[in-house]
Amino acid sequence: MTIAAVGEPSTVQPTTLDVDALRAEFPILAGSSRGKPLIYLDSAATTQKPQAVLDALSHFYASANANIHRGVYELSERATVAYDGARVRVAQFIGASNDSEVVFVRGTTEAINLVARSFPAITPGCTVVVSEMEHHANIVPWQLAGARTVPIPVTDSGELDMVAAEKLIGERPAMLAVVHVSNALGTVNPIAELCRMARAVDVPVLVDGAQAVGHFSVDVAALGCDFYCYSAHKLYGPTGIGVLWAKAPHLAQMPPWQGGGDMIDTVSFERTTFAPAPGKFEAGTPHIAGVIGMVAAIDWLERQDRDALHAHEADLLAHGTELLASIPGLRLVGTAADKIGVLTFTLSGVHPHDLASLLDADGICVRAGHHCTQPLHRRLGLPATTRASLAPYNTRAELDALAGSLNHAAELFAR
Ligand code: PMP
Repeated sequence: MTIAAVGEPSTVQPTTLDVDALRAEFPILAGSSRGKPLIYLDSAATTQKPQAVLDALSHFYASANANIHRGVYELSERATVAYDGARVRVAQFIGASNDSEVVFVRGTTEAINLVARSFPAITPGCTVVVSEMEHHANIVPWQLAGARTVPIPVTDSGELDMVAAEKLIGERPAMLAVVHVSNALGTVNPIAELCRMARAVDVPVLVDGAQAVGHFSVDVAALGCDFYCYSAHKLYGPTGIGVLWAKAPHLAQMPPWQGGGDMIDTVSFERTTFAPAPGKFEAGTPHIAGVIGMVAAIDWLERQDRDALHAHEADLLAHGTELLASIPGLRLVGTAADKIGVLTFTLSGVHPHDLASLLDADGICVRAGHHCTQPLHRRLGLPATTRASLAPYNTRAELDALAGSLNHAAELFAR
């Protein structure tokens, strides 16, 4: 979303979202923390879960729990139908042409590890172009596979240097692996443009969509990428489940990376053959309830007026940016023109961890540290920052409370 620069009038349209009704769907938001009403501003770490997701999980365990695929009894058939049907639902959700291109994994981290371990072009000594704003999950797996990670530089406002990107991609790395939306800066990267550059020189592209799918619709075909991954827990769903989507020819040439039940065709002591994708990548009993919960989250999200959610989040971002910019000694980090609801900052004279503890005493949940982006923080010359990350269930009043506590902290430490 595009926000007005600080000091300019906001261009964001008034929202039509009934925020109270939305909040009522999230039981946890009515709770408290440190004896104060809970103000949850850490949705980039994990989103809260609507009742619809909680109900789906408890309904599954209460009425359909069984292991999948090999049971001949009705309960197992029910669980199998729900699990296999989920793949079709996820394929629709991300614009994939075929559900066999959807692999269920533990989350974004596992998805990237799977590709780094199994994609044949990733060999010791190869180059993977990443960016300076990557989460560690999109750096370390490539390094473990022996690749050299070469970063696209990030500008002072927190955007990719696209001239440098084109040059690095032109050197034909084994992979371009880039984040769709930065968890530390909120920047939405121009993925379709990067994919066009990569396609021109036959470089495959992996997109880390962990922070994207919960904020706007994603269409992998329109983006033109080769691999896309996300975690359900940042999409109002359960932890421990996520998706790797990959183009079918890539999955066909990738060997399994874990062995065990459910991923085989035949097994003997002499020779084992494997199931076709996606089964060959899903060894062992999967997180069946997680998959059911993820589908409930997708169904819930798609029942919402997504334009209204988006407009409300943009309004919150504009309001929060304006409030924070007026706090003495506060420096906003990440001011890209296109960003989601992430407010990352430093406050002069206050360590981010101390600041997060002060806010915690007021019932405000934020994150402090490097947000698993140490190279980015090194680039910005900051050991750590504080991050308030937004979801449509947040309110202007919560941001006012955040600004009040930050002003108080600024006064305290200015003395
Ligand atoms: N990439 C990004 C951009 C993220 O924000 C995160 C989670 N903070 C991850 C990857 C890793 O996701 P998970 O821990 O769910 O595997």
